[in-house]
Amino acid sequence: MHDFRYVGNQLFCEGVSVDSLARKFGTPLYVYSQHTLEDHFKKLDTALASLDHHICFAMKANSNLSVMRVLANCGSGFDVVSAGELQRVIAAGGDPKKCVFAGVAKSEAEIEFALRKGIYSFNCESEPEIVRINKVAARLKKIAPIAVRVNPNVAAKTHAKITTGTYENKFGIAFEEVEAIYARANKLKNIQLRGVQMHIGSQITETTPFELSVKKVLPLVQQLKAKYALEFFSIGGGLGIVYEPALASGATSWWNSPAAKGIMTPATYAAKLLPLLQPLGLKILMEPGRFIVGNAGALVTKVEYVKRTGKKNFVIVDAAMNDLIRPAFYDAYHEIVPLKKKGGAPISSDVVGGVCESGDYFCKDRPLAKLGEGDTLALLSAGAYGFVMASTYNTRPLAAEVLVSGKNAGVVRERQKVVEIWKGEKVAAWLK
Ligand SMILES: *Cc1c(COP(=O)(O)O)cnc(C)c1O
Repeated sequence: MHDFRYVGNQLFCEGVSVDSLARKFGTPLYVYSQHTLEDHFKKLDTALASLDHHICFAMKANSNLSVMRVLANCGSGFDVVSAGELQRVIAAGGDPKKCVFAGVAKSEAEIEFALRKGIYSFNCESEPEIVRINKVAARLKKIAPIAVRVNPNVAAKTHAKITTGTYENKFGIAFEEVEAIYARANKLKNIQLRGVQMHIGSQITETTPFELSVKKVLPLVQQLKAKYALEFFSIGGGLGIVYEPALASGATSWWNSPAAKGIMTPATYAAKLLPLLQPLGLKILMEPGRFIVGNAGALVTKVEYVKRTGKKNFVIVDAAMNDLIRPAFYDAYHEIVPLKKKGGAPISSDVVGGVCESGDYFCKDRPLAKLGEGDTLALLSAGAYGFVMASTYNTRPLAAEVLVSGKNAGVVRERQKVVEIWKGEKVAAWLK
């Protein structure tokens, strides 16, 4: 069931009219559906049910405390990339023992914090990092569980800024070097070799790259498992979602819209990977981010002006690239729909924000209903890499966030006050 859908002429999120939220809480506003979060988590969890598996939500995609609590309540662990994220896990009521720690730049202080909290595994991206983890663990008289992130050198067929599994980028350790690194790490007294990890990129909508990389890494994993009594193999995240118009087509779910035709689903993903992973006899970890939260969020915005110049129809809205950078950063597509359905012929429009950058647009030359000042719109599928990448560029306060469950709606992040933007800033003493 599509949790963002029209009831009559009004866009609803679950049992709540989105326009009522815009009126009550103002715009720009992020709105999340709790049911979509739970549903997408469960779809994946169910698809993997026949495997000993554990899902670690990649919280960098959306780290709102309530979003995380919903997922922790579903049994999720978390894939963290900083000590700050691990502190958030604790603040959200999650369990550090169900967490893995990724990232290429872990500091000594971060390693110490994670060790003290009992992290399940450090997913290591270089040999100096393993040496450092061993050193910190020795100082704390602890044993640090680690996995090495294997770079399988497989192209993920996705946007250049979100591909990670080839030797062109900074992530992981080259496939050919992994065995020797495990052998050396095994000699370090305060290191426990717990698993193997890989992650090839993001927004991957076909099974082939996953299948190819698992097939490539599998013999190595088997070999390492035999030598070092490993517990787990993490196959990373990266599962893509449907961004293309699902709602406008009248589809009742993301998965049965025309745009979703041929796209990988949890079922097709599992069908290809389970037969490969089953015989391994290891716990399988997954680190999905976008798949779980992407479709669960919308960015709601209000039209400030409509400006016609030459051939262009600019719809200028009160959200901007500082609220949602994906179109500017990744050329990303977001379906844009009015909160109240409009009649009339569509006109080719550019929806743009007010930030002083020509890259600040949400769509270009897209046929949209004729819009006017005060109309409200939703940018769909903005739940992943949306709010978390927001900034206060142009001294624009961070948007508010609202969580909806059935007929309930609650603010899960207050709108930032302008004075909070320069909190901690000072005029230097000699300027006074
Ligand atoms: C970002 C990231 C993920 C999540 O990626 P999605 O595309 O959001 O699923 C998983 N694992 C690692 C190591 C990551 O860096």
